[in-house]
Amino acid sequence: MREPEYTCPICSTELTYFSRYPNYVCDSCVAKATDESSRALKFFNTGMHGGFKAVYADTNGEREGHICFIEGNKCYADEARMGGIVVELYA
Ligand SMILES: [Zn+2]
Repeated sequence: MREPEYTCPICSTELTYFSRYPNYVCDSCVAKATDESSRALKFFNTGMHGGFKAVYADTNGEREGHICFIEGNKCYADEARMGGIVVELYA
């Protein structure tokens, strides 16, 4: 069976399709994530077994919530099921 085609919804880079994450964005777009006032954000797992934490890149201060913006697109960041971080377009 042929894999569905999938591209990053923001920059159109070709990506592997995951049915669990139908709107996820690529790593280079995740690296451009900001809050609503364009402050850069970084995302981490809080421990070995997942968890989610967002911090401001400039101060390392914790940012509440999962919403971020990438090139004007509202997105939702969360821990990925297998570890790491996944960011999806917020519908
Ligand atoms: Zn992208």
